[in-house]
Amino acid sequence: SLQNILLYCRPGFEKEAAAEISAITQRIGLYGYVKAKADSGYAVFHPQSASGPEQLTQQLHYPALIFPRQLIFALDMIKDLPSDDRISPLLAHIQQTGLTFNDCWLETPDTNDGKQLNTFTRKFSGLFNKALKQHRLMDSGSRWRLHIFFLSSSALYIGVSDTNNSSPLPMGIPRLRMSRAAPSRSTLKLDEALKTMLSSDEQQRYLQNGMSAVDLGACPGGWTWQLVNRGMRVTAIDNGAMNEELMASGLVTHIRADGFKFTPEIPVDWLVCDMVERPLHISRLMARWLSEGLCRYAVFNLKLPMKQRYDIVQQCRDIIEEECLAHGLKCQIRMKQLYHDREEITVVVLQ
Ligand code: SAM
Repeated sequence: SLQNILLYCRPGFEKEAAAEISAITQRIGLYGYVKAKADSGYAVFHPQSASGPEQLTQQLHYPALIFPRQLIFALDMIKDLPSDDRISPLLAHIQQTGLTFNDCWLETPDTNDGKQLNTFTRKFSGLFNKALKQHRLMDSGSRWRLHIFFLSSSALYIGVSDTNNSSPLPMGIPRLRMSRAAPSRSTLKLDEALKTMLSSDEQQRYLQNGMSAVDLGACPGGWTWQLVNRGMRVTAIDNGAMNEELMASGLVTHIRADGFKFTPEIPVDWLVCDMVERPLHISRLMARWLSEGLCRYAVFNLKLPMKQRYDIVQQCRDIIEEECLAHGLKCQIRMKQLYHDREEITVVVLQ
């Protein structure tokens, strides 16, 4: 049955995805073991006792996952798909699930091996989609999306995701275009954070024309640019040089100062921070701004060390949560390793 939990992740972060799903499943009393091969781009949790996708989607909450890019409930791996007829055995497995699907995505790990399969999956997709329709497996009213996750042309996972509890993006990867006017590639990190970690309602409510922001470690200005683009006035703190075109917008004040020492005279709506520093150090700084009311909301990056990344991330969350609580503030902390994040994660704090 569809009892295994298949998680896509950034290659190199399988251990973190595994640590995370182990902690979560333990908390909800679901016992089993995780398989996560280094640099494979995915991890799989195998439970001891069978449950189904209805039960799993109630117990697991996709937005709360940090390292996994996608949450899928999968059958056991299929290892020997015959090359002369792939469709019939796939259909047989899919029909056994008893489900119908609103969509079907053919995916691969986000690795070099995975990319080599793109031509194959593209060719296969036309015929396969036709077969799914012929066998009445597609239904636009279904909550389930079908995923065929190819590890090679003969090995794969068949799985489903709940459209209300998963990434709405194939492979969990947003395809964002970088504007020519943006001062740096880092700009995509903040763009992705605001577009994927806030719902569209929240984007309207929390990102308004005329709001104020401070950007710590702002140069050359990729993050500041995203805020200016959304109509905000930004104070950019950095000893480096800011992009001249961005400064010409008249919406940016550049102050050459240490981001750990700067304090705004008037509280701002948003604090954003992309300084390269130890994650606990950044978290303490963010906790201070939030708890002292220097900002209402925050987005920041935590650069992760080589080891014990999942533990450090939990410690960072605790620092912020505890300091806000001590000041009587109930904050909502969202953490995610975004597609544009490398050895780092992005944190959004709302209250
Ligand atoms: N977010 C920026 C963008 O999109 O263009 C890129 C930021 S870059 C990764 C990190 C910046 O943090 C550097 O420009 C560096 O000068 C600055 N920085 C590092 N430590 C700092 C500190 N203590 N105070 C102020 N800026 C700092």
